[in-house]
Amino acid sequence: MSFNNDGIIVKAYGGFYFVKAGTSLWQCTLRGVFRHRNIVPLVGDRVAISIDARDQAVVEEVYPRRNSLIRPPVANVDRSVIVFAVRDPAPTLTLLDRFLIQSGTEEVMPVICFNKIDLEEGRSPDFARVYTEAGYNVLLTSARAGTGIKELRRILSGGIAVFAGPSGAGKSSLLNAVQPGLSLKTGEVGHKLKRGRHTTRHVELLLMDGGGLVADTPGFSTLFLPEMKREELVYFFPEMEKYNNGCRFRGCLHKAEPDCAVKKAVAQKEIDLGRYERYVDMLNEIIVRERSY
Ligand code: GDP
Ligand code: ZN
Repeated sequence: MSFNNDGIIVKAYGGFYFVKAGTSLWQCTLRGVFRHRNIVPLVGDRVAISIDARDQAVVEEVYPRRNSLIRPPVANVDRSVIVFAVRDPAPTLTLLDRFLIQSGTEEVMPVICFNKIDLEEGRSPDFARVYTEAGYNVLLTSARAGTGIKELRRILSGGIAVFAGPSGAGKSSLLNAVQPGLSLKTGEVGHKLKRGRHTTRHVELLLMDGGGLVADTPGFSTLFLPEMKREELVYFFPEMEKYNNGCRFRGCLHKAEPDCAVKKAVAQKEIDLGRYERYVDMLNEIIVRERSY
């Protein structure tokens, strides 16, 4: 006698797959047929498992993926929580924009988290407003003072999330504030330890009290722009894309063309100049890359 169950792989280790099915965690082996089919299950994969009378659990089937990230290797990611400190260290907005683009290409819903808001006495910095007005979900948090933690907990209570953002922004501190029992390493010493471990360790999804799953390793650490055509870039700048149809030329890149609705909106301060300049920088990068093919 055996029965079947659906679940999610939360950890892969030593040839075993740990599958959360309902409130149970099953240590599963993989049905041999997967080796022939060239399928490597990932953490985050939704799977069907069978459990026999002796409680031997086996992954029988991997359901189709919605998406899969490379770093960290997680499937079916719903959300990215992109964390930058408002200061110490000051945010690198070009890196933030690249994380947003990467979220867009992976079809992951981004939440921008500006942390250490206690260092600004709780005041919202100008750059936070720019991203809110561009249409992003922006959260102002302080892991230290507890600001915004309830909201972050709510955001993490469903689906699969990964954290992204530079070292020192407060990602581990935020996760610990959301769920104190996780006790992730924070601070500089922790970082060195973490970096060392990441080379051998595998990604694991941590179970939130609210039911969500969060990758224990940050993602999106690259500055590299995803492959795309030059005219696609604007779709990752929602506040600019709105004007896309108002330009004189079809296929306007909003760079040097006359009668450009986007440039007009920048001049009228309807689009943030910094965001526009970073768009142009990235556009040039894509054009240079196209030429090198
Ligand atoms: P991570 O590298 O992104 O995981 O960052 P950590 O969580 O390790 O935090 C880096 C440093 O920033 C640590 O010294 C934390 O104590 C500090 N930190 C984290 N969150 C806050 C915050 O909200 N306010 C302040 N003032 N410091 C914070
Ligand atoms: Zn234009």
